[in-house]
Amino acid sequence: MRDPSSFLKSEYDDLVRRELDWKLRVLGGPSSPWCTVDGKKVLMFCSNNYLGLSNHPRLKQAAIEAVQTHGAGSGSVRPIAGNMDLHVELEARLAKFKGAEASLVYQTGFAANAGLIPQLAGEGDLIISDELNHGSIIDGVRLSHAERGVYKHSDTDDLARVLAEAEKASPAYRRILIITDGVFSMDGDIAPLDRVAPLAGEHGAMVYVDDAHGEGVLGEGGRGIVSHFKLPRERVHVEMGTFSKAFGVVGGHVSGSSDLRSFAYNKSRTWLLSGSHPPAVVAACLAAVDVLESEPQHVRRLWENTRRFKKAMGDLGFDLGRSETPITPVMVGESGKAKKLSSRLFELGVFALPIVFPMVAQGKARIRTIMNAALADEDIDFAINAFEKAGKELEII
Ligand SMILES: *Cc1c(COP(=O)(O)O)cnc(C)c1O
Repeated sequence: MRDPSSFLKSEYDDLVRRELDWKLRVLGGPSSPWCTVDGKKVLMFCSNNYLGLSNHPRLKQAAIEAVQTHGAGSGSVRPIAGNMDLHVELEARLAKFKGAEASLVYQTGFAANAGLIPQLAGEGDLIISDELNHGSIIDGVRLSHAERGVYKHSDTDDLARVLAEAEKASPAYRRILIITDGVFSMDGDIAPLDRVAPLAGEHGAMVYVDDAHGEGVLGEGGRGIVSHFKLPRERVHVEMGTFSKAFGVVGGHVSGSSDLRSFAYNKSRTWLLSGSHPPAVVAACLAAVDVLESEPQHVRRLWENTRRFKKAMGDLGFDLGRSETPITPVMVGESGKAKKLSSRLFELGVFALPIVFPMVAQGKARIRTIMNAALADEDIDFAINAFEKAGKELEII
């Protein structure tokens, strides 16, 4: 009889043949500016660890101490027996940091989107998404029974069109929810939340922003996109984020009204049915919020480094797409060439991965670089030199 699991090999082989399989690299030690990748010492140029906090002494110390005072695990899900004082403290601290009434922490950002979105809109409702929203939003929307609308990337005229059409629906939609990434992870551009929020207000729609790449990066002291645009808090109903990027640890969160918090934890299945964070994780997240509040130099340095890199790369003639943030794509075009550029950079001591179809459109292959506050000027210049050399060899510049 045929092996019912034979598709595992054949589908994987097919990915390998089309060069779409992930080749997993191994980091031998911390995610630091100079790190060991597959045994080679290279400059890290593609982590989400924007502020270098994943290896910050205060975070490490807080994690060690929490293991000693609270143990290695939490013992349960939060609604039963896994809600420790540390979890409660983190949510209070985060809400204060964000200037929100309340925050709720999920195991990951993905779990926040997959758990909350399907509860916010269901049968008889409409969810409207930016066409380039993150996969975790797409999955959250798929789990909902709501109808779906899409608007062209960051195009508020197109969003107005979708909203106007929605108004004509009969029977009328019960609720409308607009969802957008804050910073788009492949291009590094910022969502026009300053225009989306008032438009939503005119149409009585809720606004949900996924600020995974904006937190710790945008706004006053890294408070995120709502702070960046100085929007009144009540204009953005759900501000979702993650501790896995600039905060340097792991965990998702949503901030907004205390009604949002009570609703979200009572209804999100990912929150209710999955074990809570171990004490070390929560304590490290708490320390990350402390560091953001007390050491503003990291966010400042991140932007100085970003400007230095973008300026030099632009002067060399590289096409940096539409980036406005520390995510700087180096546009190459063809997939094969982007892969060659990445390999050559690795040989020259810079670790930055190619992003190719189907993650981005055909012909839009790129190297996605992500700046880091822990890089010294010499490190950035080292990377620029490597890009110049490899870029000339491959006739990209
Ligand atoms: C990374 C990312 C997530 C997922 O966050 P995790 O906490 O790592 O699960 C969600 N949304 C966006 C836009 C992201 O970039």
